[in-house]
Amino acid sequence: MNVLKLLLEKIDQKKERMVQIRRHLHQHPELSFEEENTAKFIEDFYKDVPVDKLETNFGGQRGIIATIKGIKASGQQHSSHNNRNKGKTILLRADFDALPVTEKTGLAYSSQNPGIMHACGHDAHTAYMLILAESLAEIKDLLSGEIRILHQPAEETPPGGALAMINAGCLEGVDLVFGIHLRADIETGHIICHPGNTQAGQSIFKLIIQGKGGHAASPHLSNDPIVAGSSFVTNLQTIVSRRVNPFEMTVITVGSFDGAGQFNIIKDSVILEGDVRTMNEETQRLIEKEFRQLVAGLEVTFNVKIQLDYSNNYPVLKNDPESTRQVKEICERTSGLNSNQINQDEILIPEITKVETGNPWSASEDFALYLQKRPGCYFYVGAMPEDGIWHPHHSPRFQIDERSMIISAKSMAAIVCEYCG
Ligand code: MN
Repeated sequence: MNVLKLLLEKIDQKKERMVQIRRHLHQHPELSFEEENTAKFIEDFYKDVPVDKLETNFGGQRGIIATIKGIKASGQQHSSHNNRNKGKTILLRADFDALPVTEKTGLAYSSQNPGIMHACGHDAHTAYMLILAESLAEIKDLLSGEIRILHQPAEETPPGGALAMINAGCLEGVDLVFGIHLRADIETGHIICHPGNTQAGQSIFKLIIQGKGGHAASPHLSNDPIVAGSSFVTNLQTIVSRRVNPFEMTVITVGSFDGAGQFNIIKDSVILEGDVRTMNEETQRLIEKEFRQLVAGLEVTFNVKIQLDYSNNYPVLKNDPESTRQVKEICERTSGLNSNQINQDEILIPEITKVETGNPWSASEDFALYLQKRPGCYFYVGAMPEDGIWHPHHSPRFQIDERSMIISAKSMAAIVCEYCG
């Protein structure tokens, strides 16, 4: 019996439960670092699942690792050269936090937690991974190597949960890492595997510009930080337009300018906050250097004092080219997309209708941290609603096509079978 076929049948049988799990999580979203009930829900799920090891509160941050060991332990020699991928230890990661967004989808299973929403699809990541883990545990006697399922908290909020997971040793003995993000902007049925630099590095900044408050009618007796701040926001635009190579994707956004006050008062200080995205580390460093230089110049020009917090949070996400090529090949092969003579019996995942290399994505991801330490691939599974109307991730109207969860579970199952079949 083809192991993958068996695994896919199991996943199909659990389709309804997968949707139920996702909708339950969708109704009960929790913010990064506060995912108490979500972690409890995941732990409870594993109570009846025959995994070999279950670690909870991993990294002291509610991470959960379910380990499934194949009958042939990791690292054993296999006789055939065709089996050189087999018997690996692979880590599969799904994140489970939500966002401070008030849901406006009108769905019957909308968020019941005011001001919090699963607006990035991490509820669906968790649901597909739980069903996949259960299916794998049920057939583990047919597997080799080791599958480490990591349910990771706090992806959305720097410093992110990945750092604590890595520091607590989740990558020890791991050969390869894999993860999926659903994408509402990609057609359901499509998969994108992009090699190399794939998601942006992120830095954030906060400036407190200290001027001198006073009467609005006598600006010469005070020092207006709003004028200094406004000049800074304008000058900041020149870093991307005049300092960065035009072929390099770069974004600098001032997301908050706290200058609220009263019409007849010159404020004492203002606070600015923002975000920087770059597609390579060199640019990430260049921006910080130029940014600090502008801040120093502003202090001189406007005679203000500036307190600056600038931190490089998530690095650029770099997919290992070889693992990415393999993921693409596995998805194409199992969906019958890479052959001229297609034997219908060999199309195991017909739900996949297209596999592409695609383009980099300017969002950031703490999965980048795992990929700094181990080869692997973070890829995208299309989740666009069937009517073609989609809303961006983090939008209060964000929705997914739930069929994308089956595609995620099945494509990840095919990857597991490749390395641990
Ligand atoms: Mn996300």
